[in-house]
Amino acid sequence: MPYIYIKTPLYKNSKFVPHLVEHLINLKTEISPSHYFSFLKDAEMTVTATYTLIDLPKEQDAMIYLEKLLEPLCTDLIPSETKAICEENTRNNYTQKLFEKIGKQLYEKDFRTNSCLPKASKKEILEYHQKYYTKDNIIVYDDEYRIIYSQYQFVDERQKGVLPRKRFQVKVRGYTNFVSSEPRTHWQQYYFFFFVQELLDAYFGYTYRFQKKRYYYDIEAFFFMTEDHNIFALADDFDVWFDEDFFLESKKHFKNILLYSYGRKGKILTQLLFGIELTDEQIITYLDSISLEDVRFFLWKKEDYMEKRSFLSTKNQ
Ligand SMILES: [Zn+2]
Repeated sequence: MPYIYIKTPLYKNSKFVPHLVEHLINLKTEISPSHYFSFLKDAEMTVTATYTLIDLPKEQDAMIYLEKLLEPLCTDLIPSETKAICEENTRNNYTQKLFEKIGKQLYEKDFRTNSCLPKASKKEILEYHQKYYTKDNIIVYDDEYRIIYSQYQFVDERQKGVLPRKRFQVKVRGYTNFVSSEPRTHWQQYYFFFFVQELLDAYFGYTYRFQKKRYYYDIEAFFFMTEDHNIFALADDFDVWFDEDFFLESKKHFKNILLYSYGRKGKILTQLLFGIELTDEQIITYLDSISLEDVRFFLWKKEDYMEKRSFLSTKNQ
């Protein structure tokens, strides 16, 4: 599966314009059976707050696709695709609510959610496409994360220090969420965030699925990356209490993900976001330096942990 990565930052603190541009790429004008099966059927597109990813089936020629992305947008489709995006985003789930509340705290009035608030003119949409859908803003990888095509030129658009590190609480449906937001100025912060995400995911699987024998569980840890910030939230009622053993095993597992599996995408993202090419050794050395205390501190429940720890040690005596 070739992967096409395009660096597409938020526009006016919203994913709306990058998302709409993805809906308007020139492959979507022609709708015939042969066109549908050759270009649209198995191509998966994802728009995040930092990049757009096009995941193509193995047989697809990524270079043909790439050329299509650069062609003029189908602006005729703006009204219907705006509607489609609104429909995509009407799901008013817990995470969406949480995200809105966090955004209001961070960006105040300036904040717009992912939803359908098209505060962008046709001109702005076209300019966004012209700026970001260019050959020097795209990298193409094969399914082993080897570069197939790249003339990528890193342009630093991060607005350092716009929002300082911030910690606050927001309440959603009765749950208090501990939120932390920090500027991402070093590549290490990307990997730290990635590691904690995998660690909590594994931890929830371990406790809810296997210890508590529940088949379904909601992962109420929220991870969000913008061009220059890492945003994280954890619901209060979640009992995140893993020990050193779980931490070390999860780190070992994370190393394997980084070296042999989907974790290799980390190198793509650090290239897109920081313009640097890392070696596996640099990444692993950094990972080795992360301590359990670092992670606990990041989870922002240090006092709770301290209390629990003393409680547990009393109990064990
Ligand atoms: Zn969409």
